[in-house]
Amino acid sequence: MRHGLLREGRARFWQNIIPPRAAGEVARTAPADSFEGAPHEALAAASPGETPALEREKGATAPRMGKSAATPRRKPNVLITGTPGTGKSSLAERVAAAVEGFKRIDVSQLAKEQDMLEEFDEELDTHVIDEDKVLDHMEEHGLGGDAGGVVVDYHGCDLFPERWFDLVVVLTCDNAVLYDRLQRRGYSEKKIRGNVECEIFQTLVEEAKDSYDESIVKVCASDTIEDMEENEKAVAEFVEAWKSPLA
Ligand code: ADP
Ligand code: MN
Repeated sequence: MRHGLLREGRARFWQNIIPPRAAGEVARTAPADSFEGAPHEALAAASPGETPALEREKGATAPRMGKSAATPRRKPNVLITGTPGTGKSSLAERVAAAVEGFKRIDVSQLAKEQDMLEEFDEELDTHVIDEDKVLDHMEEHGLGGDAGGVVVDYHGCDLFPERWFDLVVVLTCDNAVLYDRLQRRGYSEKKIRGNVECEIFQTLVEEAKDSYDESIVKVCASDTIEDMEENEKAVAEFVEAWKSPLA
């Protein structure tokens, strides 16, 4: 049931979030089963009311989230978040491979490679990242500029500046499936339990909705390879439909 609801929500979400095209412009054909309705119909319906809002946004000093067409970036930045094991890095890798010119930042890996870890947290059984250093590094390496085109993945999302992202994907996973994945990863029983609990309480879904405009937060099931393929396609479509205000 939960799965069915997520699927339904997914189709509606993409219809709402894809940046509007100019009225009359023909949409690229969507891959089969990506949308419930024809995407260009939803887009055409969304277009007429957009211009005044856009004009207002241009005059604002700080770009607001959720108004994707007004964000001053050539390409959108995408954040993929979720409980460890839900498939963030796998999806980010696929998106970066599928979309030309996109680069990815795996925040946990970055912190490890760049020696940006703080002390080991016994309770969480993990290293705590040095957030200030990580954020500075990210800002210098793509997130701060107007080029965009970065797909970031991390099991947290409230540490990043809200303005960095145009789309926030929260991956979710069935508890039993997640348990098995984390066990295969060699996590301790305690660490597995902590993460599965995080998933049960939908911690990252809430964190994402608290930290970003809800209109750009997309919750996606990531139980199967088909889910992953579908999510990859949906993110790629979002990116390709992006209209840069700087172009
Ligand atoms: P995360 O980065 O969120 O911790 P990973 O991308 O490393 O998760 O995935 C954890 C494991 O689960 C990997 O072995 C990966 O192949 C597998 N996996 C991830 N997403 C899916 C999915 N949607 N369906 C099946 N297996 C998946
Ligand atoms: Mn990962």
